[in-house]
Amino acid sequence: MGFVKGLKCRECGREYSVDPVYVCEFCFGPLEVVYDYDGIGKVLTREMIASRPHNLWRYRELLPIDGEPTCGLDSGFTPLVRADKLAAHLGMKKLYIKDDTVTHPTLSFKDRVVAVALSKAREFGFNTVACASTGNLAHSVSAHGAAGGFKRFIFIPATLERSKIVASLVYQPNLIAVDGNYDDVNRLCSEVANKYRWAFVNINIRPFYAEGSKTQGYEMVEQLGWRVPDVIVVPCASGSLLTKIWKSFKEMKDIGLIDRLDTKVFSAQATGCSPIVTALKDNVDVIKPVKPDTIAKSLAIGNPADGYYATQVIRESGGFGEDVSDMEIIEAIKLLARTEGIFAETAGGVTLASAMKLIESGHIDRDALTVLSITGNGLKTKEAVMGHTGEPWHIDPNLKSFEATLKKIESH
Ligand SMILES: *Cc1c(COP(=O)(O)O)cnc(C)c1O
Ligand SMILES: [Zn+2]
Repeated sequence: MGFVKGLKCRECGREYSVDPVYVCEFCFGPLEVVYDYDGIGKVLTREMIASRPHNLWRYRELLPIDGEPTCGLDSGFTPLVRADKLAAHLGMKKLYIKDDTVTHPTLSFKDRVVAVALSKAREFGFNTVACASTGNLAHSVSAHGAAGGFKRFIFIPATLERSKIVASLVYQPNLIAVDGNYDDVNRLCSEVANKYRWAFVNINIRPFYAEGSKTQGYEMVEQLGWRVPDVIVVPCASGSLLTKIWKSFKEMKDIGLIDRLDTKVFSAQATGCSPIVTALKDNVDVIKPVKPDTIAKSLAIGNPADGYYATQVIRESGGFGEDVSDMEIIEAIKLLARTEGIFAETAGGVTLASAMKLIESGHIDRDALTVLSITGNGLKTKEAVMGHTGEPWHIDPNLKSFEATLKKIESH
C-alpha cells in the first residue's frame, strides 16, 4: 500500500486528490505529491532498503504509486564511482561520480522519472503515453513505453541531433518533430494534453514523474554509507532534478534514515542556456527566459518550469551555480573519459566543467566530499566531440609500419 496523502499546490498550499493534474486551479502554481512521512518513518529502515533488489523501487514507500510497480524494474541503482584520478587532477580529496550514463534501459537519468511516470499512468488507466522532449526523455518514453505495451506519442524539436532522433525511432513510437525549439514543443504539448486523454509524462503526470528524480538522491546517500555529500553539482534543464535531489535528502532526514543534512547544492548550466545560473549570479528571484544556443541540447530549456524553486534550494543550502562554454563542455567530456573511463554526454561535460570553475573560484572547497551528477551517456551525443578527439594512427598492414609508428608514439 502507498503512503501518498494527495497533491498540494507549492504556492498556495491548496490540496488536491490523486489525479492526473499538475497545476493549481486557483493560483496556477505547480502541484506536488505529499506523503504520510510519519507512516513511512515507522516502517522504512536502512536494513529493509538494503535487502531489496538493486533498482529504484527499493525506495518505493517514498514514490507515488499505490500498488506494485509495473515499469522500470531494472532502472536505477547506478554506480557511485569514486573518482580518484579526476580528483587528483582537480586537487580534490573525495570526489564521486553518480554515474547515470549506465541507467537501464536508455542510458540517462530520464529512465528514473519515466519508470515512475508510466507505473503511475498505468494505475490511472491510461493506454497512451506521451512527452515533450529535448532528446533523452524521448528515448526513455519510447523504450519504457514499448516494454510496458503503451501507445506512444513523442514530441521533439526538429533540430535535435540526428543520432538522438534515430535512437528514438528504433523503438517505433509515433515521433513528431516540431519546427521550433523545446519551449515551442512544450507549449504545443500542453494544448494537446488538454484535448486528448493521454498521459503526458512531463505535463499532466509531472507531479508523479518528477518524484522519480528523488531516487538519484536516495542512492547517493545509501551508497555513501547513509550520509549526505558535502557538495553536489547538478546539471539543470527545467531545474526539477536539482530540486528533487534536495527533497530526497530532506525526506531521509525527516524519516530518520540520516541525522545530518548540510549539503551545498550547485547548479551547472551551459552559457548558451543559463537562466537559472544567471538569476543566481545577478542575485534576483525572477528567472528571465532565454533562447537556447548550446551544444548541450538535453539542457536547452530556455524557460525552466522549476527554475525559481531550484534557485531557492541553492540559496537555502548555501550553494551557487556556474555556466560554461561549448568548448569547456567538450574539454570536460574528454577529461572525464581519459581520467575515469566514463563517456558522458554534453550535460556531463556541463557538470564537470562547471564544477571545475566553482572549485577554482573557491565556491567548492577542495576538502568537501563532492558528488557530480553525471546524467547521460556520451554515445548519445557523439556529434558534440566529433572533430575534437584527434585521429587514429594510420598504418600499413605489416609489422614494419606498426613499429615505425610505435617509435613516433613513444617519442610523442
Ligand atoms: C533532462 C536532463 C537533465 C536535467 O533535467 P531537469 O529538467 O533539470 O530535471 C540533466 N541531464 C540530462 C542528460 C537530461 O536529459
Ligand atoms: Zn495554488
